[in-house]
Amino acid sequence: MKAPVVGILGGGQLARMLILAGTPLGVRFQVLDRCADACAGALAPLNVADWQDRDALQRLARAVDVVTFDFENVPAAATAVIATSAPVFPQPNALAIAQDRLAEKALFAEIGLATPAFSAVSSRAELDTALQKVGVPAILKTRRLGYDGKGQFRLYSLADADRAWAALSSQAVEYELILEALVAFESEISVLAVRGRDGEFRAWPVTRNWHTEGILSVSLAPAPGLSAELEAAAVEHARTLAERLEYVGVLALELFLDQGCLLGNEMAPRVHNSGHWSIDGAHCSQFENHLRAVLGLPLGDTGQSGHACMLNWIGSLPDMATFLRTTDAHWHEYGKSPRAGRKVGHATICASDQASLRTRLQQLGHALGRETQLAPVLAVLAQDEAC
Ligand code: AMP
Repeated sequence: MKAPVVGILGGGQLARMLILAGTPLGVRFQVLDRCADACAGALAPLNVADWQDRDALQRLARAVDVVTFDFENVPAAATAVIATSAPVFPQPNALAIAQDRLAEKALFAEIGLATPAFSAVSSRAELDTALQKVGVPAILKTRRLGYDGKGQFRLYSLADADRAWAALSSQAVEYELILEALVAFESEISVLAVRGRDGEFRAWPVTRNWHTEGILSVSLAPAPGLSAELEAAAVEHARTLAERLEYVGVLALELFLDQGCLLGNEMAPRVHNSGHWSIDGAHCSQFENHLRAVLGLPLGDTGQSGHACMLNWIGSLPDMATFLRTTDAHWHEYGKSPRAGRKVGHATICASDQASLRTRLQQLGHALGRETQLAPVLAVLAQDEAC
């Protein structure tokens, strides 16, 4: 059989990990990115071109069997060019919805998933109206192009409205903003799921996440203390969403747990940072399953036999040799130069039981001077073990 070739729009760490997962399956890759130093370029041919470059997009589409992407802000026009010559998965309609926080929240409402109260804002006067409706505290976000907490402003009183408008109106495309109630959630969780071309659906154990300044810091799977009912409800929302979109590939659904209720925050139509633990902690990783799905291959087992904790390395890498002294600890470096706020790598620590995972994390936090990053996770694990 001829080796399948997958085109990836975007050449960051997600593309890089797709390539690492696909190589043992005999899959070959072509990557397209605007940056000549995109980190996936170390592992596969990199086509450097702009999203407006129709020739480059068409060349890529003709050279591959299927096209996918490693970030959701690929312009719809670029996927439309590709779609004339090669199938694009996940489908551009899912991409279009995930690019607009308002469309995303409207879809959540349609499938019966509650959300924080929200209101569209496109002028300073509308911000006042939205504040009357949503109340404070609230969070004003750009509808498009926001990621890792960028394009957001928190309002704690009505007097913050001028500053919020000044900060975000210039960043938003055509003043498209959304005001959301700032939820004092108990926890943030995500459902990572995959749907095949034949409609088969599978989900990994629900993951609990901790963010620092809007950037994912730690993920823990399975989410400790989550009731079977809530876990099943969260997975059911992801299934409904995937079926409603006739989705193909890996999908992440980020949720807040607030007073026992699940609230939809956002969806990502791609492999997702909160699923990185699955490389070392699940029978089949999100990266391999995404490739299996887009290539129409049978899906792999999303089950997990123990517990896993993923730590993001943001800004710079800690000392690898110290890290590697930990049992069942897995290091992933992205080949990116250090920069404040930049994800330069991650690591996953696995254990067969939760108590052993906690001990390993405690020792690791101490050895690497990462006590602050791990403190909330260790507290939750200790509390769960005490119950
Ligand atoms: P987002 O890019 O929308 O996922 O926001 C990044 C992070 O900001 C989330 O993971 C939350 O920690 C926080 N956040 C976003 N929206 C809200 C909200 N409506 N209420 C409380 N926290 C939020």
